[in-house]
Amino acid sequence: MGAEAQTGGVRDVAVVGSGLSGSLMAVLLAKRGYRVQVFERRPDPRVRGGDHGRSINLGLSQRGITALRHAGLLDRVLAHAAPMRGRVVHLPDGGLGYHPYGTTDDQILRSVLRHDLNVVLLDAAEAAGVALHFGARLVDLDKGDPAVTLRFEDGTVVEADTVIGADGAFSTVRARMQRGEPADYHQEFLPWGYKELSIAAGAVGDQRTDPEALHVWPADGGLVVAHPNADRSLTGTIFLPLTGPDSFDTLRTPDAVRALVTERFPDLTDLVPDVVAQFLSQPTGHLVTVRTAPWHWRGRVVLLGDACHAVYPFYGQGMNSAFEDCVILDGCLDRNPGDHGAAFAEYQAIRKADTDVLADLSAANFVELRDRLASPLFLARKKADLALNRLLGRRWVPLYTMISHTTTPYAEALRLSRRQNTTLAWLAGAAATGAAAAGTLLLRRLSRQGK
Ligand SMILES: Cc1cc2nc3c(=O)[nH]c(=O)nc-3n(C[C@H](O)[C@H](O)[C@H](O)COP(=O)(O)OP(=O)(O)OC[C@H]3O[C@@H](n4cnc5c(N)ncnc54)[C@H](O)[C@@H]3O)c2cc1C
Repeated sequence: MGAEAQTGGVRDVAVVGSGLSGSLMAVLLAKRGYRVQVFERRPDPRVRGGDHGRSINLGLSQRGITALRHAGLLDRVLAHAAPMRGRVVHLPDGGLGYHPYGTTDDQILRSVLRHDLNVVLLDAAEAAGVALHFGARLVDLDKGDPAVTLRFEDGTVVEADTVIGADGAFSTVRARMQRGEPADYHQEFLPWGYKELSIAAGAVGDQRTDPEALHVWPADGGLVVAHPNADRSLTGTIFLPLTGPDSFDTLRTPDAVRALVTERFPDLTDLVPDVVAQFLSQPTGHLVTVRTAPWHWRGRVVLLGDACHAVYPFYGQGMNSAFEDCVILDGCLDRNPGDHGAAFAEYQAIRKADTDVLADLSAANFVELRDRLASPLFLARKKADLALNRLLGRRWVPLYTMISHTTTPYAEALRLSRRQNTTLAWLAGAAATGAAAAGTLLLRRLSRQGK
């Protein structure tokens, strides 16, 4: 099919936001024959350097990997990535625990710098013919038919046949698209925030800085998570309550910070000698969940990634699901050639229930990482899950495995996991009943023998 037929005569697409989903979608749209322009409020990261202070390091899992492969970019991204084969848990008593992410060699995560990933995507977009505009902050959008008008902070006005809102959790495209429409919007801030910490490479063989693992420090009232970098250093994120005792609000002096770190994350003082200086100099980030509908308007505007479903980062799925959006939307465009209205409606119909489930799972995983990871019972359950998976293969796949190492839709993964749990509870009950019956028989027999 010719490009003109595929796009239904729609030629000019404006993508707002050149973060992760915007730049990947731009590549896919350019490949389909659209004339694509991307507008990004920040400067070009390829010129300016790293994007400091913003969740520098991300865990790439199967959904993101599949999307990058779909765009032909996987090898280029993996060249910058560090493998994570499991989690090292830094226990509050100073001990270490380890659990692998899966049962096979391919069930691993990849840690990649947001900056490196973004550069690969932007280079690919440019190579595919996409025009990139940096320092272009969208301030308004007029919904018009046949064209949508975009207004930028510097006074520039641009018309486009179609607009892709990939401008993150506080999306201007979303707000303007939904203005005057019967739309749902729910935003929820976690009462916890985060700061970044750099952890220098440790000695070879030191499990405390194992460069092939995600590191987690669960603690009472705090959590640190660190991803490895290709140079063996780690990039950590410390999560704490925003207000109240021992919060970002109250921890303002070196003594207070040192006391908290020493008490809650004992080995960090050793691994990060300047932890106090880093803590006091880093900005505090906020975490938000966004649920909204609709995600599109009359085949002219559509949202992607955090703009329509921001989630807390505790399942490591925000970027992965944003990349998956791009593949799903690409498939919808394929199935509805020339009909953007139908394509966008199908995309939301396929996707919304899944990303709502992801929001719930991401909130639940915060509690799991913070409160349960140090519990021997919980760790035993995780081990049992993997053992059952090894034994039963596809008939028993832990929820974490389905979310991180497959592309099973999120809602389906949750449904399958609940069914497995019900079966297990039933088997355990049956085994207990069987054991009780056997025990009664045995007792009777023994008492008869004793007579
Ligand atoms: C601490 C933390 C850790 C995380 N870890 C992981 C992880 O391990 N794995 C994972 O999958 N996800 C992770 N995430 C989530 C992930 O970062 C996001 O889900 C992902 O970046 C979403 O991509 P996006 O393209 O939708 O938005 P973004 O990447 O945020 O891109 C939005 C872009 O739009 C631009 N923009 C915004 N407004 C405008 C405007 N008005 N005009 C023009 N441009 C605009 C922004 O500058 C930005 O470049 C984490 C998030 C945080 C906060």
